[in-house]
Amino acid sequence: MTKRLQVYETPDITVSFDPNVCRHSGVCLRTLPAVFDVRRTRWVDVAADDPHEVAAAVQKCPSGALQFYPNTARNHVAAEQLARRVLFNHLALARTQSDDRTEIANAICKAIARARAYDFVALYDARESEFAVAGWSGDAPVHARFAIEQGLCGAAARERTTLMVNDVAADARYLTTSEATRSEMIVPVIDPVTRDVLGTIDVASHRTHAFGTEDRELIEDCAREIIAFWTE
Ligand code: SF4
Repeated sequence: MTKRLQVYETPDITVSFDPNVCRHSGVCLRTLPAVFDVRRTRWVDVAADDPHEVAAAVQKCPSGALQFYPNTARNHVAAEQLARRVLFNHLALARTQSDDRTEIANAICKAIARARAYDFVALYDARESEFAVAGWSGDAPVHARFAIEQGLCGAAARERTTLMVNDVAADARYLTTSEATRSEMIVPVIDPVTRDVLGTIDVASHRTHAFGTEDRELIEDCAREIIAFWTE
């Protein structure tokens, strides 16, 4: 079962530990025993040594289980990297914490929505003739099912590409998600082998011009991370 990502911080440095990929080499324990000590409940004490020493020790981790992010409060790139790592861990956890597909879909949507304060996130299944919502976070979608060619989902599936519409009122293809929706992004989930569209990730905002390149890249990466939701 997937385990939760652990995060340890000081004002200078943040260290994350992913127990799912640790190879138990003991390199960290031998390099900085004051910082890394499995006898403690919180086994990483980042404040126990100089941040440069901590960073150097983390870089020796052979599995990548340990990662460091310098001064995340002031470093936008480092904060983004950490947030992404936390999100992907939550996506993996969501898939292991229930046997119920709707619960899993809802947990995935909640994790994505929380990562960037999105107003609405939904997963849709692409069936032979229709899209059907599998789960969501935010207001219930107006259309839980709709014809496969309809809406921005239909357009994204046909074109097999992400659609980012930053003013839905100006796009004739838009099918109402909720009355409050002003921007919407649809990422098609494509089977890497068959190239079939398996479903979509739908992200919506109550603001116009809510989405940019960072959002697009993040949600496309999420689609790759959670493809097993549709294939398994
Ligand atoms: S160095 Fe990395 S792989 Fe080895 S025990 Fe520490 S965290 Fe695990």
